[in-house]
Amino acid sequence: MDKIRRLIPNRKENLMAILPIYPYDARVLREETHEVEAPTPEITQLIIDMFATMDRASGVGLAANQVGRGDSLFVIDLRPMEGYEESSPLVMINPEITDLYGEDISYEEGCLSVPNVREEVFRPEKLHIRYRDANFEPQELEADDFLARVIQHEYDHLQGIFFTDHLKGLRKRLVMPVLKKIRRGEAEADYVMAENAEMAG
Ligand code: ZN
Repeated sequence: MDKIRRLIPNRKENLMAILPIYPYDARVLREETHEVEAPTPEITQLIIDMFATMDRASGVGLAANQVGRGDSLFVIDLRPMEGYEESSPLVMINPEITDLYGEDISYEEGCLSVPNVREEVFRPEKLHIRYRDANFEPQELEADDFLARVIQHEYDHLQGIFFTDHLKGLRKRLVMPVLKKIRRGEAEADYVMAENAEMAG
């Protein structure tokens, strides 16, 4: 967790909690998130806990509403991916994608809120994003390849969108029964999922 500790302002003891992950169609994951107004100790703790939760679940990206919080922020850590072992973990607060460009490319995605579902999704290969980092400093970044993919997936979460919403036709029909099962709280995951989460209408 050293690289992550370096990201976090005023870190002291860094007590970490593993948070339950909210499932597909939970209300908090269907509502748009709200801007973070200031870098409070509560937000810092949320970020620390989100990294710990993502790490435990072997994820590479996690949005705040996936742990039941309506704040506009997500964390990314691509180091488990081949070729990204030396990459830096990222905290993106109040992100705004200002440009999407390049070719639309297909890639198989998964999501900690949608366990055991992996589907090919088309997305633009490059983007430009503005955000605030863990110190609440404004930043901007050009991203491509796998990083652009993960940013778009997490950014979607903040707007109430799941990767499965991008599926069409037969692929969508085939995945629907699995999504309904997750919605009923019957998902099997090897990490803790929120029980009795309030579902979107
Ligand atoms: Zn996701």
